[in-house]
Amino acid sequence: MRVVDSHMSLSRLNRIQPTSLLGTSRTSLSLLLNRRGESSYRGDQIFRWIHERREADFQAMSDLPASLRASLARDYTVARPQVAGRSQAGDGTSKWVLRLADGAEIETVFIPYAHRLTLCVSSQVGCAFGCTFCATAAMGRVRDLTAAEIIGQVLTLLEGHEVAPDRRFNIVFMGMGEPLDNFDEVMTAFDILTDPLGAGLSWRRITLSTVGHVDGIRRLGARQHRPRLAVSLNATTDLLRGRIMPINKKWPLAVLRQAMADFPVRPGERITCEYVLMAGETDDCEDARRLARFLHGLPARLNLIPWNPSPGLPHARPDDATIERFRDALLRRGLDASIRFSRGGEAAAACGQLVTSRDASPWRQHS
Ligand code: SAH
Repeated sequence: MRVVDSHMSLSRLNRIQPTSLLGTSRTSLSLLLNRRGESSYRGDQIFRWIHERREADFQAMSDLPASLRASLARDYTVARPQVAGRSQAGDGTSKWVLRLADGAEIETVFIPYAHRLTLCVSSQVGCAFGCTFCATAAMGRVRDLTAAEIIGQVLTLLEGHEVAPDRRFNIVFMGMGEPLDNFDEVMTAFDILTDPLGAGLSWRRITLSTVGHVDGIRRLGARQHRPRLAVSLNATTDLLRGRIMPINKKWPLAVLRQAMADFPVRPGERITCEYVLMAGETDDCEDARRLARFLHGLPARLNLIPWNPSPGLPHARPDDATIERFRDALLRRGLDASIRFSRGGEAAAACGQLVTSRDASPWRQHS
């Protein structure tokens, strides 16, 4: 995949920047402290400071000896990414543009509902998968995010919105990138977010959305401790899906469906199947019929997402009557489909509108 020249390689970067501890799991933190001649419980203490109390300054970690605070501050960092821009939609959704240590930019979205809060986080800078309806695809894949950069997004938004440390929130890996194409870092971030000594989120609050990366779905299913799974289906024939989602040529519908059928869901758990409605392409009654057949017998629930426009992309959003008709056609077949009217459209923060490369983004707004 194409690597943008101006982005320094991460290994080179690590040599000149102190290593971030934001993405270090509790176990690794304890090992790291052992190697420095400290007892492992210091690892738990520091982990708590970073993830439970969200402390960004080693010097303020008051139950650590001064010498340890000083040596940590010399060798490591818990700094957050730089905020490069922020825009807010009337519905309260806000999109943050974050600049990483190598200058790469990513977007993270804060979505408050009446009684819950969801953060939509990115897993990669850009994306390799080339879906024709998604703005991120235009960037290509620049690089994977580290677990520290994933956690950095969460901390930056929680702090920026002054979210109380005891308030629970949800995470969706539905920002830029394909999370299963960056499996290890995403899982480390998941383990940190669910650690009882950190934010302590339940796995139920974390959803990973995939383009239909079958190897990744199987790898995820084999994991004891894992987030919920969402699969972007978006089309019901191999012909159309192959045209709008190139990944379908590698893993066609039947193979994807089998991976979903084999996925070891827990009692009461459902896989979310996402289906983007695009006018004249994915929104007629035949599609609804095929969609019902695809889902029949799968432990899945359906989320219909009316396409969010992005300048230059060759698709259109169906009108409301067509969206309703599509949903009704599914209901008649006994399928419970919810329509996800994406939030944040005014701030270009809705599904499929996240893009940060200078030439690819018509939306950039800086604060
Ligand atoms: N790579 C992952 C996660 C990012 S996309 C994936 O493909 O699932 C998150 C969701 O937004 C996916 O379901 C995707 O199909 C949908 N999406 C992408 N572009 C969109 C657009 N312009 N309008 C509405 N939904 C879109």
